[in-house]
Order: sequence, then C-alpha cells, then structure tokens
Amino acid sequence: MLAEPHELLEKQAESHEKAESALRPVKALYLSRPRFPSGIDMPCKSCGSVNQSEFRAEMGIHFPGLKNIDKPAVWVFPKLFVCLDCGTAEFAVPEAELRLLAKDDDAAAG
Ligand SMILES: [Zn+2]
Repeated sequence: MLAEPHELLEKQAESHEKAESALRPVKALYLSRPRFPSGIDMPCKSCGSVNQSEFRAEMGIHFPGLKNIDKPAVWVFPKLFVCLDCGTAEFAVPEAELRLLAKDDDAAAG
C-alpha cells in the first residue's frame, strides 16, 4: 500500500532531522578547525601544521648522475608552500617543464 503524501513528507522530515543531528558534531569540528592562511587548504603533510606560507620560487632542476652533467637544468618558477613549523616545502612542476623532466626520464630508461 502506498503511503499518503503527508506521511512521506513526515518521514522525509524525520530522516532529514536525523541526518542533521548526525552531522552536527562534524559541522562543529569543521567550524572550530584552525583557519588556514589564504591559498592554503591542507595541513602540512609532514607535521599537520596549518602554519604555512605561500612564496614564489625560482628553481633549476638538475638531472642526476655524471651522464647528465652537460644537460641543462629545467627552470621552474612555482608557487612554493612552506610549512613554517617543520620547513617542509611543496610545489607543483608546471606541465611544460614536467614534460621535459619526463621526456628525459624516458631517454634514460630506454
Ligand atoms: Zn610541517
């Protein structure tokens, strides 16, 4: 037998209330978490600190080993995120430079 529309609505409201109360502690935790500096949305992977800062960097990435001694460095200018508590730094290599690094890796492997 089908439930009356108003019964369905009541059931829905009831389960909504249940979901809401289950989420309440999560919500509270979310709101009470330490605030991240702007641009930073993850705690430090090494120590969990949110005390991080964003910098600009220039970096010459060198291929290791004697056989690569004549190979030019790949220059990147990434955003650098530094944990001000433990010193762990993180950045992403832009796609074009990443291809240069990957290409050379293939040549070395083959
Ligand atoms: Zn850290």
